[in-house]
Amino acid sequence: MNRAIHEGQESFGGQQAKQAQEALPTLPNNPYLLLTPGPLSTTPSVKAAMLRDWCTWDDDYNSLVQSIRRRLTRMASRRDPEAYTCVLMQGSGTFSVESVIGTVLPEGGKLAVLANGAYGQRIAAIARTLRIPVAVADFGEIAPVSAERLEALLAEQPDITHVAVVHCETTTGILNPIADITRTAKRHGLITIVDAMSSFGGVDIDMAELDIDFLISSSNKCIQGVPGFGFILARRAALEACAGQARSLSLDLYDQWSTMEKHNGKWRFTSPTHVVRAFDQALIELEQEGGVSARNARYAENQRRLTARLERLGIRPLLAREWPSPIITAFYYPETDKFSFQELYHRLKQAGYVIYPGKISAADTFRIGNIGDVAPDQIDELASAIESQQFWT
Ligand SMILES: *Cc1c(COP(=O)(O)O)cnc(C)c1O
Repeated sequence: MNRAIHEGQESFGGQQAKQAQEALPTLPNNPYLLLTPGPLSTTPSVKAAMLRDWCTWDDDYNSLVQSIRRRLTRMASRRDPEAYTCVLMQGSGTFSVESVIGTVLPEGGKLAVLANGAYGQRIAAIARTLRIPVAVADFGEIAPVSAERLEALLAEQPDITHVAVVHCETTTGILNPIADITRTAKRHGLITIVDAMSSFGGVDIDMAELDIDFLISSSNKCIQGVPGFGFILARRAALEACAGQARSLSLDLYDQWSTMEKHNGKWRFTSPTHVVRAFDQALIELEQEGGVSARNARYAENQRRLTARLERLGIRPLLAREWPSPIITAFYYPETDKFSFQELYHRLKQAGYVIYPGKISAADTFRIGNIGDVAPDQIDELASAIESQQFWT
């Protein structure tokens, strides 16, 4: 095991992992490989970590939670981990986004959202639902967000206090230039919120360098765990200022954090124990793979091979070359009358692959995720399976 990043105090999870790996039970075969951006394909050892009845309240579990929080904090801020902290929150990723928006904006606050897809729009919808004043800069679906538009919005609406942006907009796979946005926001003294749900763990992010106050991700994306909780990385001082602001009891980010801080990793309400165990194993495997840079390289290779093979069939990627993330790729439907996405989807599923429909209104697209426990060779096999579907002959 790679101990370089596991300091002595983190060996607890390591021991558990070793046990899980040594005693790997026979698991049922997966019916298919998930090429979807979460839930995604996980390793047998991540799944095996869940095959026990884990308790929730004792020291073993609480120290594991603390270890996970520390490891995530170090991943998010190598330069200055002490200035940052981590909260785990039950539910899917959206619950964590909602906990941030509903807790971080004080009464009288106003949120600017830079949106270029469904997940940016979802942040705005959360704010509206919570009756938080929100200004949306809408960039359509296939262009990156820009700091110029943010400047213009701030000039128009000087009462804006917080700015939210999505890092990898999973709708298209576009990787937004968040540094431009957060630095502009900081020049205006604003609090910055980044939805890095689908990129954290697969794309290197340093919160201090990028001036990010709150960053949100979840268990079932690039860390390659299973669904069940999200996590929020926060600049400690910014989170400390949020006491008493929450608009929800169960999604009170501050209270969840202060309980974890004061009671050594305790969750306020029933926690997804098995999912947390699996996540610990997934974090260990991320380190064993070589960390975020190695994982990023594998995802990028998956994407490169997939795109090259599909382009030979006349299936073009939606985004211009400079914008895609290595996370997920959207493709235009091929220009042939024979093509039916439904047909392709069902045939590929039978052949052992699950792909993803498109999510934009401007064009007919489908998407293929590059993330999860998927090796470049498996992408080659997927490309061969697509080629053999006879839509192109
Ligand atoms: C997956 C994802 C979310 C959260 O979606 P859930 O279905 O709630 O897990 C939020 N933002 C982005 C960019 C995502 O990719």
